Amino acid sequence: QSLSEDMDTDAATMPLPQSNERRWSDTSAYARKKILQSWIQLPNGNWELGKILSTSGEESVISLAEGKVIKVMSETLVPANPDILDGVDDLMQLSYLNEPSVLYNLNYRYNQDMIYTKAGPVLVAVNPFKEVPLYGNSYIEAYRKRTNDSPHVYAIADTAIREMIRDEVNQSIIIRFSFLSSGESGAGKTETAKIAMQYLAALGGGSGIEYEILKTNPILEAFGNAKTLRNDNSSRFGKLIEIHFSETGKISGAQVQTFLLEKSRVVQCAEGERSYHIFYQLCAGASSALREKLNLKSAHEYKYLGQSNCYRINGVDDAERFHTVKEALDIVHVSKEDQESVFAMLAAVLWLGNVSFTVIDNENHVEPIADESLLTVAKLIGCNSNELKLSLSKRNMRVGKDTIVQKLTLPQAIDARDALAKSIYSCLFDWLVEQINKSLAVGKRRTGRSISILDIYGFESFDKNSFEQFCINYANERLQQHFNRHLFKLEQEEYIQDGIDWTRVDFEDNQDCLSLFEKKPLGLLSLLDEESTFPNGTDLTLANKLKQHLISNSCFRGTREKLFTVVHYAGEVTYETTGFLEKNRDLLHLDSIQLLSSCSCHLPQAFASSMLIQSEKPVVGPLHKAGGADSQRLSVATKFKGQLFQLMQRLGNTTPHFIRCIKPNNVQSPGLYEQGLVLQQLRCCGVLEVVRISRSGFPTRMSHQKFARRYGFLLVENIADKDPLSVSVAILHQFNILPEMYQVGYTKLFFRTGQIGVLEDTRNRT
Ligand code: ATP
Ligand code: MG
Repeated sequence: QSLSEDMDTDAATMPLPQSNERRWSDTSAYARKKILQSWIQLPNGNWELGKILSTSGEESVISLAEGKVIKVMSETLVPANPDILDGVDDLMQLSYLNEPSVLYNLNYRYNQDMIYTKAGPVLVAVNPFKEVPLYGNSYIEAYRKRTNDSPHVYAIADTAIREMIRDEVNQSIIIRFSFLSSGESGAGKTETAKIAMQYLAALGGGSGIEYEILKTNPILEAFGNAKTLRNDNSSRFGKLIEIHFSETGKISGAQVQTFLLEKSRVVQCAEGERSYHIFYQLCAGASSALREKLNLKSAHEYKYLGQSNCYRINGVDDAERFHTVKEALDIVHVSKEDQESVFAMLAAVLWLGNVSFTVIDNENHVEPIADESLLTVAKLIGCNSNELKLSLSKRNMRVGKDTIVQKLTLPQAIDARDALAKSIYSCLFDWLVEQINKSLAVGKRRTGRSISILDIYGFESFDKNSFEQFCINYANERLQQHFNRHLFKLEQEEYIQDGIDWTRVDFEDNQDCLSLFEKKPLGLLSLLDEESTFPNGTDLTLANKLKQHLISNSCFRGTREKLFTVVHYAGEVTYETTGFLEKNRDLLHLDSIQLLSSCSCHLPQAFASSMLIQSEKPVVGPLHKAGGADSQRLSVATKFKGQLFQLMQRLGNTTPHFIRCIKPNNVQSPGLYEQGLVLQQLRCCGVLEVVRISRSGFPTRMSHQKFARRYGFLLVENIADKDPLSVSVAILHQFNILPEMYQVGYTKLFFRTGQIGVLEDTRNRT
């Protein structure tokens, strides 16, 4: 008798809870009568296991650890699973599916370094914050041969390869974490992505291109990751890597797409955090010849790096990392010459930060001081130092037909300088990605088969939330819909369409919130763009406009002054519009673009032309609107939305595999498992709902034709000439697949989890 049987039926008929109180509430009176052990919630919120000694009327007597006996109201009992289910590797196997049981199960496994657990179709990964003996060739071999079947990223990657070949459908591995009020980072997404890549490279390798693909990691991490208060190696950009395969399942190339690099970090970062790793690596690791050429000093001498008072990361040797990056650049075919140009750009950014200004008239206008910093920048980017000086002290504006020159005040000049530094850096980042893509596209005999791995930031909600969080949370809202649609909505629609018995399960849809962002013309993004094109628009007028038009929307709340609140699927986030318009416009004054295009070095030239190409219309001469800058470029939000739509379209054509990373503590420390923290994450990513729906549903499906074609040859009795449905039914009978384990639809067969395994195994042995 299966332990989980009666809970199965419970789950199948139970609508998905929508509010917190109703979550995980499988404590029906019926279930309560039979339980022997229960979870008791302690005053600190943690759960402790207790034995039920007796139940009389409303009250139960429970014995806790250390012989303590307490009386509680029976209705507060939360059933615990029998010991035999301790540490099951799929949460689907739990008889009682409730918060404490899931927490306990993950904790039980975590204590034994089993950091991976299945939650139905989703892989849950709990960050160990230490090396765990789960990786490397022998493990890869075991998963390839399927002699190891415990949950693992390798197993997910393996399934992706197999399904890509079997179904001829592209695959995606979507690695995400969950919402936390403090903002979530350091859950292990990037590490998990690398582990998946390792496996794909090992199985699909041979041509050597896999080696190049792996080497993109140290490069992108050096230029796009930084130490933050939450994670010593925090990704400050989103990434999708699409790995291409030949018909025989060998890797033939890859393509990287990046999203929304946090540029502000180049010129500013919080106390205790660092700017991008590559700056420190360069300062620590450059050869003396390179130092001389770039007039490179130690990191302490650069203002951009000095402001946060943090230069080192525990256990990391920046100089050594610099050599790793250089080697990686060699491998992805960035020539030595180009590498030197890259380093020159980095040095130019650092020296720009040291450019200082002096007042030149009695109206407080300033110009840069022509000192070592300014001269070095000019030399590094290959321009005349006077032109650099001019571009940082004035701005050309066209008013009507006339061009007027506006002199800059100190804050304006600092802005211009920082904008130039940020642009150079972000163009450099994009340029590197482009070089990587050129190199990885070499073996591009595209069969159209691919596995994409998505490592993208999760929801963020800090004390203060700005434009960056706004974009990131919008992206997450989109991804969440993808997840929902895939796991809940489409699933059910498919059952209904194919006419199988099915009890409908409700789930939380976030379409309303997405509409709040995307609706035209009265959605957050449209209104933001509109306000961004008004020369007189300010952060306050933006906030007022949003409130004026959106106040009736149930996902929107106008708060004080520049604040507004969005009700995201994962919780409410209050944004402050300060800086929204400027960040959305992302203007680099045309003078600066012109300066770059006049440089004698090829990288600045390339940057200038890429900035002009990004414009919707070609820009000729200075424009006047919005403070003398080029207002024709796509806004950041619009560009991001476009990227996101493209991403969703790409993912939409793939079979997705989901991995949820969980951070067990906030101090990056091994062995520490904080129940409350883990619980918050589990709740927000809907892990338990997924398990419920999977237990009650039929996640595996195959058309009658395909099933007959795939397994028909295993039939003892020769009926191969019969119609696919008859063949399929004969197979089901021959393999004794129990009637409750499958359903026959009009066009497809539907199976409960794990049912097809025995057929696949037999097929592979034959
Ligand atoms: P962010 O959102 O800030 O980019 P992230 O989710 O990408 O965070 P990672 O950088 O992947 O987080 O992980 C943070 C740290 O956790 C790693 O630097 C590593 O020390 C540790 N870690 C994560 N996963 C593993 C693992 N499987 N084995 C060992 N350590 C791990
Ligand atoms: Mg990361």
